[in-house]
Amino acid sequence: MNPIRLLGKMTAKGLLIDGAGFGSGPVAIRPVDVAGALGMGRLPLEAALVGRAKFCDDNQAQLDLAVWVRDEFQRRCDRNGWKKDYCEGLAQLCVFELVHPMRCSHCVGRGSVWQQKPVKRASGKLKAVESSWVECDRCKGSGQAKLTVRSKAAVAGIGKSQFADAWQERSDDVMKLLWSLEEKVLRHLYHQFADEAA
Ligand SMILES: [Zn+2]
Repeated sequence: MNPIRLLGKMTAKGLLIDGAGFGSGPVAIRPVDVAGALGMGRLPLEAALVGRAKFCDDNQAQLDLAVWVRDEFQRRCDRNGWKKDYCEGLAQLCVFELVHPMRCSHCVGRGSVWQQKPVKRASGKLKAVESSWVECDRCKGSGQAKLTVRSKAAVAGIGKSQFADAWQERSDDVMKLLWSLEEKVLRHLYHQFADEAA
């Protein structure tokens, strides 16, 4: 299987994993099975927290993850000589962004839009209307919208201009770390359930 094609989506029933290799398309996995699979193998503790917080609707894991992210911010502040006043709020923001991503309003979270295109004859007369799903260009197929700077600053409890000047980039860097952990989780789950299916 090609892990690059791996895509995980939260649904009301659990996690939908869509990747090549399961044979018949996407499989839906219940939160309880996700939690079980996260405990198997050797997933780093913080990755398991990301998985439980995001895919198992596990409130305690969300709190524990916020503590881990706060400590990560504190380490970065120590290293760079930044003010440490906002680590708690920034951790809230990052966990919120990870667990409750906003849906793209253009494609309502689908990641693709139904497009209809008229096909004309050489004479200029309408021949047919072709329709197909195409990747949403607003969200580049992710189905997710970004929070505005104003909302991010409000969630983090930092003034808007101060957030924009100093903390937005730093919090985006921590988000990259969390998303890489999420990807690790999805690969881990993929292997766990693919092995089971085999
Ligand atoms: Zn979109």
